Amino acid sequence: MTGVISVDEHRAQVTELLGRRPAVSRPVAECAGLVLAEDVTAAVSLPPFDNSAMDGYAVRSADVAGASEHAPVELSVGADIPAGRVDVPALPPGTAHRIMTGAPMPEGADAVVMVERTDGGTTRVRIHAESAPGTHVRRTGEDVTSGTVALEAGTECGPAQLGLASAVGRDTLAVYVPPRVLVVSTGTELVLPPEPLVHGQIYESNSVMLGAALRALGCEVTTVRSVADDVDSFRAAIEPRLADIDLVVTSGGVSAGAYEVVKDTLTGAGVTFTKVAMQPGGPQGCGTWDGVPVVTLPGNPVSVLVSFEAFLRPAILSSLGHADPDRTHVRARLLETLTSPQGKRQFRRGFYSHPEGAVTGVVGPRGGPASHLLAALSQANCLIVLDEDTTEAAADSEVEVLLL
Ligand code: AMP
Ligand code: MG
Repeated sequence: MTGVISVDEHRAQVTELLGRRPAVSRPVAECAGLVLAEDVTAAVSLPPFDNSAMDGYAVRSADVAGASEHAPVELSVGADIPAGRVDVPALPPGTAHRIMTGAPMPEGADAVVMVERTDGGTTRVRIHAESAPGTHVRRTGEDVTSGTVALEAGTECGPAQLGLASAVGRDTLAVYVPPRVLVVSTGTELVLPPEPLVHGQIYESNSVMLGAALRALGCEVTTVRSVADDVDSFRAAIEPRLADIDLVVTSGGVSAGAYEVVKDTLTGAGVTFTKVAMQPGGPQGCGTWDGVPVVTLPGNPVSVLVSFEAFLRPAILSSLGHADPDRTHVRARLLETLTSPQGKRQFRRGFYSHPEGAVTGVVGPRGGPASHLLAALSQANCLIVLDEDTTEAAADSEVEVLLL
């Protein structure tokens, strides 16, 4: 077929269109879910100094050698060392300092006896257990050595990574910032709840779905929820906003009928419209509008979400520096026979589960192949992928599943 491109080709085009987002410096606390655009070199070691792992007494291990329940050793207590004390006195032989978790070890001490192995005394302390050198002491640099790379560029910042970045002294990080996305729903038939519907109208839902999907990737989303199918209205709704936007995503108005407003406005103006060999979601387009990347999705709600999964999600994640932008793929045993058109990659909505003890999971379809079945989509937790050469997948055969 001429003019038809594969799912992979269109995904590659959208990915290239979005490119790599700029790296921006952000406060560490605002970097959750983002990918590092720099190596984070530790400004300090972790721990930065030898410190106590327990509440107890800093001692010289030789002074408590042989101590036991029956033969406690009694030492005088010299100083109190809470966490945060910066003027820690050295430990004279034959004495103990009371010390708290995280407080610096005094010079001369080589072990900590936990408070539970003592009588807890504050001027003199009876110690009921020996303590080998190094016991309950956290050593300088045993976690991270100052000057080494604590986090590599390309790392996704989750809670632990952000904690580490802070612990080694960072207040900001260079990360790839998610795009500001303008989501535009086209269709003269579209009405916004709670306005009553007149026969022939429907409630607009695509922008809500797309907005949620984009926000889940960290994008800042603004929406134009209902643009009539005429070129002037469409232009007027979008053009004034392009200056503050990194990406425009449209729904509807790209298929083969008349009144295809997105196609009519943008054909020959920077956007290429194609047919992708997939079901649902055949009519697709991408390009630029006044220099701003535009991805044009079909209008049917299921096509919108499938297109998001097939093209936009991986392209946006790649633009944000994620090395693997794919959903988790698994093989699963199909519960019903499915048919698929020759030459198209079919994405069926499914429900995947993994019965306890089973080798593979099982997947059953939710709804048929039609692209308007939004309720079935809402019951799905995966997409069943039947490749271009598959025309039938028999019940009990194994199929590829993308977990949503
Ligand atoms: P289109 O691609 O514009 O021909 O739209 C295809 C189908 O999707 C039509 O039945 C539309 O009514 C429906 N549709 C288009 N846009 C939306 C939307 N934003 N929300 C819900 N349904 C839509
Ligand atoms: Mg339409």
